[in-house]
Amino acid sequence: MPQTIIAGNWKMNKDLRESEDLLIALKSALATIPSGTTVVVCPPFTSLALAGSLLNGSAIALGAQNMYVEDEGAFTGEVSPRMLLAVGCRYVILGHSERRQYFHETDEFINRKAKKAHAAGLIPIICVGETLQEREKNITPLVITTQVRGCLQGLTPAQMKRTVIAYEPVWAIGTGKNATPQQAQEVHALIRSLVKEMFGTDVADAVTIQYGGSVKPENAAELLRQKDINGALVGGACLKADSFSAIVRASA
Ligand code: PEP
Repeated sequence: MPQTIIAGNWKMNKDLRESEDLLIALKSALATIPSGTTVVVCPPFTSLALAGSLLNGSAIALGAQNMYVEDEGAFTGEVSPRMLLAVGCRYVILGHSERRQYFHETDEFINRKAKKAHAAGLIPIICVGETLQEREKNITPLVITTQVRGCLQGLTPAQMKRTVIAYEPVWAIGTGKNATPQQAQEVHALIRSLVKEMFGTDVADAVTIQYGGSVKPENAAELLRQKDINGALVGGACLKADSFSAIVRASA
């Protein structure tokens, strides 16, 4: 059975003070979390150390939004997995569509990062998803297959079991337009079948596949009811404690 994981991607929002306010509100709104659900928050780098100490001992896990593939050295502006672990991160989002679009990250680079994350002991949340143009051209399955194979190749079955995949149709991110539960389920089933092809049934049955793209309290329960949807990666709605905690409750 895959674990249900609800993760909040704060993106480039919340300075240190605002982060503190949101984290305190989240801790109280999520004092009880549905059993079987894991909650992860991913603030910007500048708030991670604070978040690590505020969340210490709570049931909310910490994640980063990105990382580099080296431990240390002359890589100006980058942050290493070791640094993330040192402030209490357990998860790291890799290959978000905004990183692919604005920072030209490729499947090959995301694959290197995934291997590095595992080697360091972080759990990667690997994002895949098609653009509107690709969906309209009816090439969604081809795009997803290429991304999944490219990002996951060479992981061991044990690493894959601990990897989280987030299906995020790019046209649904930050647009208010979510995929219908049926559209999402179709792609999630494809992703699970690709994992099965690459790593076997055991791994495919265990891997968590999140949906992301305008998840809100109003649509979360129906999306999460789909057979192959095992959680959500939430952008806009994770910036307020009441909406994020309502999504977490919808996973019950
Ligand atoms: C995201 O960027 O991961 C995301 C899903 O954003 P939103 O929920 O705002 O669509």
